[in-house]
Amino acid sequence: MIVILQQDATRAQIDNVIARIEQMGCGVVVSQGEERTIVGIIGNGRRLDPEQIERMDGVDRTVPITRPFKRASRDFHPQDTIVKLNGLAIGGRQLIVMAGPCAVESREQLLETAHAVKAAGAQVLRGGAYKPRTSPYSFQGLGEEGLRILAEARQQTGLLIVTEVIDPHLVPLVSAYADILQIGARNMQNYALLHAVGEAQRPVLLKRGMMSTIEEMLMAAEYILSHGNDRVILCERGIRTFETYTRNAMDISAVPLLKQLSHLPVVADPSHATGMWGLVEPVSRAAVAAGADGLIIEVHPRPEEAVSDGAQSLKPSRFAALLQGLRPVAEAVGRTL
Ligand code: PEP
Ligand code: MN
Repeated sequence: MIVILQQDATRAQIDNVIARIEQMGCGVVVSQGEERTIVGIIGNGRRLDPEQIERMDGVDRTVPITRPFKRASRDFHPQDTIVKLNGLAIGGRQLIVMAGPCAVESREQLLETAHAVKAAGAQVLRGGAYKPRTSPYSFQGLGEEGLRILAEARQQTGLLIVTEVIDPHLVPLVSAYADILQIGARNMQNYALLHAVGEAQRPVLLKRGMMSTIEEMLMAAEYILSHGNDRVILCERGIRTFETYTRNAMDISAVPLLKQLSHLPVVADPSHATGMWGLVEPVSRAAVAAGADGLIIEVHPRPEEAVSDGAQSLKPSRFAALLQGLRPVAEAVGRTL
């Protein structure tokens, strides 16, 4: 249930409503809009009688909410969340572009890519130091050495760093180097990990599990939010279907649907969604047209030499061309690039 306060409700009236809800053993999420305040109720609200609440001073009405996600939902928080980070606003009018290799392979490879994506217009550098690989015999990432290289790239270029964390015990270490913590598709329902990043002081890029529903994804976001971290960015990266031409199937409708159901920013990953570099540009355009707040794109100076995801990686020149071509699409939907 949410409680919608009257436009002229006083602070004392709002506090009184909150106190009543808390007395009944429920938690509250208060959303202070420009016009009115909404108090969302978390927990077993069945003991709360909506009619009693509606009779309280300052209350306009109550609305029952049956969706299982609360903090993540737009009902609880009608205005868009803008994740602010070192001068960057993710979820605002400006599109955010994150780009870089799948994995940090070497200092030279990463620095070369970082300078190239920066020159093309990206604001955030991606690159995995800890890679969740299907095979235990595949390259697992450079670990802390990879994090150090990412930090050097940030220092040289001013790009922010997003990198994946795959183990709850690594959250403090990865947080010491990264600006944004990535939760990969394979770990979207790793609840110990979600709990750990929920307690971290860094924004989280939460990727959709390859076999997860929208509701499961929003419940994963709810874990992070409920542990105190309100800077969550959702990422649609394609889901598994019967189709085998593409690596996954970009669920383009997920972008506007997530924006309707949730106030959290949504970015799209056309690289993992398609698995084919030749599809990355058109799918990027589709995602921006559908309302994505940003993109995360794999770029490698020599995709043919990449240790992971070379087939979907763009060369820097193609990445630069992609961003140029995206400008009119962004403008058409009222965004800037
Ligand atoms: C990645 O970003 O390189 C990655 C492993 O992505 P996903 O978790 O979406 O498969
Ligand atoms: Mn990858």
